[in-house]
Amino acid sequence: MTSLTGSGLLDLYTDLHRHPELGYAEHRTAGIVAEALRGLGFEVHEGIGGTGVVGVLTRGAGPRVLLRADMDGLPVTERTDLHYASTDSTTVDGVESGVMHACGHDVHVTCLLGACARLAERRDDWHGTLIACFQPAEELGSGARAMLADGLFDRIGGPPDVVLGQHVMPLPVGSVNLTPGTAMAAADSLRVVLHGRGGHGSSPEATVDPVVLAAAVVMRLQGVVAREVGATESAVVTVGSLRAGTQANIIPDRAELLVNVRSFTEDVRARVLAAIRRIVEAECAASGAPQAPEIEPIATFSAMVNDPDASARTRTVLERVLEGHRQVIEAAGGAPTVVSLPPVAGSEDVGELATAAGVPLVYWNLGGWDPAPFAGFDLSAAAGMGSLPAGVAPNHSPFFAPVPQPTLDLGVELLVAAATDRLR
Ligand SMILES: [Zn+2]
Ligand SMILES: [Zn+2]
Repeated sequence: MTSLTGSGLLDLYTDLHRHPELGYAEHRTAGIVAEALRGLGFEVHEGIGGTGVVGVLTRGAGPRVLLRADMDGLPVTERTDLHYASTDSTTVDGVESGVMHACGHDVHVTCLLGACARLAERRDDWHGTLIACFQPAEELGSGARAMLADGLFDRIGGPPDVVLGQHVMPLPVGSVNLTPGTAMAAADSLRVVLHGRGGHGSSPEATVDPVVLAAAVVMRLQGVVAREVGATESAVVTVGSLRAGTQANIIPDRAELLVNVRSFTEDVRARVLAAIRRIVEAECAASGAPQAPEIEPIATFSAMVNDPDASARTRTVLERVLEGHRQVIEAAGGAPTVVSLPPVAGSEDVGELATAAGVPLVYWNLGGWDPAPFAGFDLSAAAGMGSLPAGVAPNHSPFFAPVPQPTLDLGVELLVAAATDRLR
């Protein structure tokens, strides 16, 4: 195992970046993590919720602080020209695809291991129990729940007192976003199967055409947010996939839609999901479908809610860390900045860990971008992640490319300081 500071940290990062693994397939990554934790003297628990790894380090009595990093990559073919770009590939639902750390989870793993190394070596600076949680399958929305269902807290001697974590974002390096309260949306993905009656393309009168039915459903669903969600509320309904038929002259007997819903309150979430069901069922009836539709949830994220008091306390710590690294940040073209951007419609399952333990969550965004395209951009007035400058590749883009340094070093320092603040 190489060192987990300086160039060792960078080597670890570029290695993880070269070899991303999809959710629940993070075997290589988990192996690297477990080996590193063992080398640092952590008690290591492997295979929690599939590929999850947890390291526990105890220094006497005191609070239990859980730091969380997600490990999975995405089925995206990398198009950056980085010398450490991923050229690995995989097959998803029969389709060949590249694999890429297009959401920066390699940054999260690297920073958390770096923080573990620092905390293991700074023995006298803290008391309590440090829990380093390396979670699988965040992108699938189920990794945190899989760890919990697999007895996460029982295996490590009980729940934590607080959950802390960070996610790298296209914000200038040296900046952090910490949104108190509801910071990210709830997300629900549904598979909707519409049944028709197949037949010859020349005789539609003898069929129930599921393609026309699907088209009517897709159009009608656009009215849910426009007509059933209030002006001061918000939600998103997206049909991300519509599949039906194979030939021009065959009317198929089924169509399948994949629908994604984002919402920020339980009330709006329930209302939108009920509206989707009502519309799908009614359109099937209107078409004379021979069989009721199937509506099946395939992924669910709860809204991510940062505890306001705990966030205020951690915010002060993060500000102090960035201020302490002003020179490094300025040399990289940035400025130490902590902002609270409005909630985003993206989703994240880290909150499941805090909710299950009944403890506060503090989850911040780590700026990891070259500050150049942000010149003249007022971050504190930004309307959210969606309003960032043009040309900055967002998370999940094939061009997603954090600047490794000083991002990694700052990410380590922020985790160490936020954890140490609690470990007293
Ligand atoms: Zn992501
Ligand atoms: Zn992510």
